[in-house]
Amino acid sequence: MRNWGGLLFSALQNFFWFRRDLRLHDNTGLYHALQAGHVQGIFIFDTEILSSLPERADARVTFIHDAISALKEKLESLGASLIVRYGDPLKIWPAILDEHDVQAVFTNRDFEPYANARDNAVAELLQQSKVAFHTFKDHVMFEKDAVLKDDGKPYTVFTPYSRKWVARLGSKIQETPLGPQPFYLQSFPSEDHLQRFEPSKPLPMPSLADMGFERSALVFPPAQVGQQLIKNYGQTRDLPAVQGTSGLGVHFRFGTISIREKARKAISLSPVFLNELIWRDFYSQILAHFPTVVNHPFKPQYDRIPWRDAPEDFQKWCEGKTGYPIVDAGMRELMHTGFMHNRVRMITASFLTKHLLIDWRLGEAWFAQNLLDFDLASNNGGWQWAAGCGTDAAPYFRIFNPAEQTKKFDKDHQYIRRWVPEFGTAAYPPPMVDHAFARARCLDTYKRALADG
Ligand SMILES: Cc1cc2nc3c(=O)[nH]c(=O)nc-3n(C[C@H](O)[C@H](O)[C@H](O)COP(=O)(O)OP(=O)(O)OC[C@H]3O[C@@H](n4cnc5c(N)ncnc54)[C@H](O)[C@@H]3O)c2cc1C
Repeated sequence: MRNWGGLLFSALQNFFWFRRDLRLHDNTGLYHALQAGHVQGIFIFDTEILSSLPERADARVTFIHDAISALKEKLESLGASLIVRYGDPLKIWPAILDEHDVQAVFTNRDFEPYANARDNAVAELLQQSKVAFHTFKDHVMFEKDAVLKDDGKPYTVFTPYSRKWVARLGSKIQETPLGPQPFYLQSFPSEDHLQRFEPSKPLPMPSLADMGFERSALVFPPAQVGQQLIKNYGQTRDLPAVQGTSGLGVHFRFGTISIREKARKAISLSPVFLNELIWRDFYSQILAHFPTVVNHPFKPQYDRIPWRDAPEDFQKWCEGKTGYPIVDAGMRELMHTGFMHNRVRMITASFLTKHLLIDWRLGEAWFAQNLLDFDLASNNGGWQWAAGCGTDAAPYFRIFNPAEQTKKFDKDHQYIRRWVPEFGTAAYPPPMVDHAFARARCLDTYKRALADG
C-alpha cells in the first residue's frame, strides 16, 4: 500500500489504454479508470497496423505521434507519464503484466474488424492473468445496438435511422453541471481526477525514425472551429472553394476531440452539421453489423459488375490527369493536403466507378492510403454510396455529371484554378473519356449485370 495525497492505495495498478481517443478531456474510459483509482496510461504503436502503410512519411503516423507527445507532456507536467510502446499488442500486454501489478485495463471500444479481433485476444490473455478488461463507448454517440428498428433489426437506410437517432438523443434528460442535458451528451470530465495518474518519472518514447517513419510535411487542421462556420455550415458546406466545412475529420478519427462536445455544439448551432455527425454513426453501425462490407458490396448482386481492368486509367485518376477539371482538382487536393472536400469526394468517386467503370475497392484503397481523416466505416460507406452498391436507396442510374456539378458548386472555377493551374491552357489534357459515352456504357453494364441471375 502507498500513502499518496492522504489516500491509501494498493500497489495494484489500473491501466488506461489510449487508442482512438487521444485526449484527457471528456474521455469516457479514462474517466471511469480515474474514478476507480490511480491510473497508468499506455499507448501502443501497433505494428500490425503500421506495417501495412506503404508511405514512410505517412501523415497519420505523424499526427498520432504529435498527439501522443502532447499527452505525454501534459501527464509529465502532472508528475505522471505515459508508457509508449511499439510492437504487437498481443506481445506487449504480456510484457506489461510481467513488469507491473496490473489490476484492470480500461479502454474505449473500437468497431473495426481488426480492432475487434485484437481486443478479443487481449481480453482473453488478460483474463488468463485474472486482470479485468473494462471497455466503454466513446468514439460514437450511439453504438450499433443503441438505435435499432422497432423489430430489433439494424437500420440500413439513413433517413429513418437519423429520425430514431434524434429521438433517442432526447429520450433521457438529466441534470449535469451544464444544466439539463440529454443523457447521451453527458460529459466525462477527467480534470478533477488528473492528479490520480500514477506518479512516474518521464519515460522514453519511440521516435518516428525508431519505427521506420519520417515526419510528414502536411499541415494538420486545427481541432477548434469557429461558431460562425458551424452556423453557416448549411449554406457553405457544398462549396469546395470556401472554408465551409469543419476540417475536424482527422480529430474525430483519432479522438483528439470529443464527439459529445461537437454534437452539443451542433444541436445548438446547426441541424445540418448534426446530420453529418449522424452519418458518421450510421456508417459505424453498418460496419459493426455487416462487417462483410469491408470486401463486398452491401448489395451482393453488385459483385456481378464486370469492372474494367484499366491500370492506366486508374493512374490518371489518381494523379488528377483525367481532363475533367473538377475531378482533377479533387485528386490533386488530396495529394497535396491529405484532404478532399466532401462534394468532390462524391464527384471523384462517382467518376471512377461510373465513368471509368473501375472497381470501387481500388478507389477506396487509394483514399484509405491518402486521406488524413481515413476512417474505414465512413470511407467504405462513401465509396459504396458512390458506386451505388451500398445502403443508399438512390438508384444506380443517378450518375454525377462533372460539368453540371462544377456549374452548381464551383461556377467561377475558383477551386479548380487553385489545384489545376494549367486549366484552360493547351497544357491541360482533353477529357480521357466522353461523358455521354461513359454514361451510356455505365448504364448498360450495370443493367446487364444486375439483370443476370
Ligand atoms: C467517397 C467518400 C469517401 C469518404 N471517406 C471518408 C473517410 O475516410 N473518413 C471520414 O471521416 N469521412 C469520409 N467521407 C465523408 C466526408 O466526406 C468527410 O467526413 C468530410 O469530407 C470530412 O471533412 P470535414 O471534417 O470538413 O467534414 P464536415 O463537413 O465538417 O463534417 C463534420 C464531420 O461529420 C462527419 N461526416 C461528414 N460527412 C460525413 C459522411 N458523408 N459520412 C460519414 N461521416 C461524415 C465527419 O466526421 C466530419 O468530420 C467520405 C465521403 C465519400 C463520398
